Amino acid sequence: MPNLTIDGLAVGVPEGTTILAAAKQVGIHIPHYCYHTHLSIAGNCRMCLVEVEKFPKLQTACSTVVTEGMVVRTDTEKVRKAVTGVLEFLLIHHPIDCPICDQAGECGLQDYYMVYGLHRSRYALEDKVHKKKVQDIGGQIVLDAERCILCSRCVRFLDEVTGTRELNFFQRGDHSEISIFPGRPLDNNYTGNLADICPVGALTSKDFRFKCRVWLLKGVESICTGCARGCNIAAHFKGDILYRYKPRVNDAVNRAWMCDFGRLEYKKANDARLLAPFVREGGREKSASWGAIVPQVALELSRAVEREGADAVAVIASPQSSNEELYLVRRIAADRLGTKNLAFTHRTPGDGFSDDLLVLADKNPNSRGAKLLGIPDGEAFDALIGKIAAGRIRALLLFGNVLGAFTEGETAGLLSKVPFIAQVGTNTGPVSKAAHAVLPSASFAERGGTFTNHAGRVQRFHAGFPPRGKAKNVIELLCDLANGLGADWTFTGERSVFRALSETETPFRGMTYESVGAFGQEAAR
Ligand code: SF4
Ligand code: SF4
Repeated sequence: MPNLTIDGLAVGVPEGTTILAAAKQVGIHIPHYCYHTHLSIAGNCRMCLVEVEKFPKLQTACSTVVTEGMVVRTDTEKVRKAVTGVLEFLLIHHPIDCPICDQAGECGLQDYYMVYGLHRSRYALEDKVHKKKVQDIGGQIVLDAERCILCSRCVRFLDEVTGTRELNFFQRGDHSEISIFPGRPLDNNYTGNLADICPVGALTSKDFRFKCRVWLLKGVESICTGCARGCNIAAHFKGDILYRYKPRVNDAVNRAWMCDFGRLEYKKANDARLLAPFVREGGREKSASWGAIVPQVALELSRAVEREGADAVAVIASPQSSNEELYLVRRIAADRLGTKNLAFTHRTPGDGFSDDLLVLADKNPNSRGAKLLGIPDGEAFDALIGKIAAGRIRALLLFGNVLGAFTEGETAGLLSKVPFIAQVGTNTGPVSKAAHAVLPSASFAERGGTFTNHAGRVQRFHAGFPPRGKAKNVIELLCDLANGLGADWTFTGERSVFRALSETETPFRGMTYESVGAFGQEAAR
């Protein structure tokens, strides 16, 4: 553990720590562009220059490893002059097109100029070297070559993370520019990360650019619902509209990355939403109030149990639901309806595509949680479908909007065999077209809870804003339904449900939201 002082603060750090990382530990920010925590060190932008006692020249903090007794100064006249000079150099050929640049508001050049620059350019505008703007280079990325500061983060990402190496530097001197090879666009599942790691507006997101100024967005910590990996993300929204996802660092799950498919999952919270409860009478949708529809569903379910027995009633849970919701669903099936017909499926329409980095074939965030909570998949689901196909299920409570990997036609055919179907779901689809009572629920951006990822890691996601339209929080909805079926549940939200499940469910025993924290906690095996 070498000890050093940085700007007078003493700190001990593990062997091999760089000055930049040591400074971060004591809350000192050393400016940098090329350094990235999850990429190799390039040391080429020169923004992180610091004074180190006994060293004749300024040192790059990102690549200088701490030694015992080192005395570092990050804020001297000499450092300031050097860093301002580096910034002026980086900006010499920059187009300064901030008013039309979508990186404005989260641009490293803007931010550092306000702290270390504030200089007047000594370079004539007409002498600037111009490069190609607005190039679609494939994937989710647009390239503006003249904004690039040649930091090489993107090149290292494609070399070290995806191994696909589509971007490289071409030309020399002030004509150097980043580009793809002719006719070979970005071709990997992780292109969106390039917009995240580019510290300036050279690589921006095709999907997000010009949709919303970033300073108008709010963010909430969440978990991607695109597959069972459970990548940690920040969900950015304005009002009740989600605009984008960005990965959050969690070295145990996704390091600093997320895939391109997951990055677009946010759209499900915006599009094709079920926003008000309705019933289907004589084939027609008729709007219903919450005060009427929940008692009606409770009545239909309990009537079916009374008349035809608990085996004529079934519940299909969703692996898109949280642990808290699944726990309540299981209790409704077992305790309120007394049926053993409870199952879920991780299967979804589509190819179940996976890769070697993050993407998993299971396209649900919580299949593992459903299993750990005792809700069966596989054969149990197939058996339940068999009962539905045979006309033995007279009332069905169904969560989500897909029936496994069945096509829309197959789903409609199966559901036509059930006299009463109540659906709790977020989006319109084949199930909501067939259900007799549709209960719209809050999306993943409008509710909180936990998911258990494929490896058994329990992770929290948070609500960004209240449910849209008349959609309802699922826990509230399930409590109303259970109480309509004779329970006296008093859960007041996901925290109180998690407390209850962690008392009784062995894999989650003893866990609290505090112990799960920001980075998750392993469920017991
Ligand atoms: S495009 Fe962005 S990430 Fe790539 S070298 Fe240029 S500034 Fe760096
Ligand atoms: S790998 Fe899975 S969890 Fe991660 S971003 Fe992609 S879809 Fe989402």
